[in-house]
Amino acid sequence: MKKSLTYQQLEARVELLEKNLTESKSLIKESVKDAHFLHTLANAIPIPMFFKDTQGIYRSCNDSFAEVIFGVSKDKIMNKTLFDLGQYIPAVSAQIYHAKDQYLLENPGKLVFQSSVNCADGLVRIYLFHKASVNNLQQDVIGTVGVMLDVTELENQKQALQEKTQQLEEHSVTDPLTGLYNRRKFNDIFATSLSIAKRQTRLLNFAIIDVDNFKNYNDNYGHLAGDNALILLSRFLEKCLLRADDYIFRLGGEEFGLLFYSNDEVNGREFADHIRQGVENLAIEHVQNENYQFLTISLGIVTIKHNSKSMLTIYEQADNLMYQAKNSGRNKILSLVI
Ligand code: GH3
Ligand code: MG
Ligand code: MG
Repeated sequence: MKKSLTYQQLEARVELLEKNLTESKSLIKESVKDAHFLHTLANAIPIPMFFKDTQGIYRSCNDSFAEVIFGVSKDKIMNKTLFDLGQYIPAVSAQIYHAKDQYLLENPGKLVFQSSVNCADGLVRIYLFHKASVNNLQQDVIGTVGVMLDVTELENQKQALQEKTQQLEEHSVTDPLTGLYNRRKFNDIFATSLSIAKRQTRLLNFAIIDVDNFKNYNDNYGHLAGDNALILLSRFLEKCLLRADDYIFRLGGEEFGLLFYSNDEVNGREFADHIRQGVENLAIEHVQNENYQFLTISLGIVTIKHNSKSMLTIYEQADNLMYQAKNSGRNKILSLVI
C-alpha cells in the first residue's frame, strides 16, 4: 500500500519541482538566446550555408544561400530537394550534388569539392564546397551541412598567372624576330635528342645553315629588308619540317640549326639539300650574292650514326663543314657521318 506523504514532505517536493522548473526555464531561455545568436550569425555571414536531411530535403539555410544562389526567399527552398528546384539547379549539377550527399551519408565525415554554380544574378561563380555529415546525440547521421566558399577571383588569378607563366616560358625560348626557337631551346632539345637517338633505329641529323653574303644584302637593301628576308626564310624552313620531333632554331644572326631524323645518311643529306634548293627557289632577290641572283644558304650537316661524340664536338663539326661549303663557292652542302 502506498504511503501518503506528510505536509512537510509535500511542501519539500513542491519546492524542488519549482526549483527544477525555474532552472529549466532559465535553460530554455539560454538556448533560445543561443539559437537566436547562431541564427543571426549565420544570416550575417555572406557565405551560402545549408542543411539537408537524410532524404536530401533542405531543412535550413542562411540568407546568403537563398539570396545569392537562388534569388528567392528561404520558404521557396525549404522542404524541397535538389530535384524539386530544377528551375534553379540544372539537372546535371543536381545529380552531382546528390551523389556527393549520398557518399557523405554512407561515409560520414567531411568532403571538399569545387564546382561552378549559376547564381541568381546571372553570373557563374566557382565555389569550394565544404560538406560534412551531421549526427544527433545518439550518433545517428541525420543529414548534411554545406558551406560554399566563393573562389572565383582566386581561380581567375590562378589561371591568369598560369597563362602568364606559360607566356614567359615561351618568350624565354623564342627568338622575337622570327618566332623560331632560340639557342637556349636548341641546347635543351639537342641534348635530349642526342640521348634519345641512342635508342632510335632512325638517324639523327644536325645541320647548321648560314645565309650567304647576308652583310651585302643588308648593305644593299637595308636592315629592315634584311629582317624581312630572315622572317621569310624562317617560315620556309619551318614548313620544311616533316615530323613532330624535327626542329628548326635561330642560333643567332643569319644562322639557323636544323635537327631532324632520317632513315639513312643519304636520305638525311638529300633532305637538307632539298631545303638548300628550296631557299634558292624562293627567289628572294639578292644581286650582290656573288654568282647567284637570289638569296642562298650554305649548310654543314652531320649525321649521327654511332653516337659517341659530345654536343660541342658535333656542333663544331657541322660548323666546319658549313665554312668549307662557303669556301667552295656558297649555296652548297657538305656532309659527314659520324
Ligand atoms: P657569309 O656568306 O660568309 O656568311 O657572309 P655574310 O655576309 O653572311 O656573313 P657575315 O658574318 O660577314 O655577316 C652576317 C650579317 O648578317 C651581318 C649582320 O648585319 C647580318 N645580320 C645578323 N643578324 C641580323 C638581323 O637580325 N637582321 C638583319 N637585317 N641582319 C642581320
Ligand atoms: Mg652568312
Ligand atoms: Mg654567319
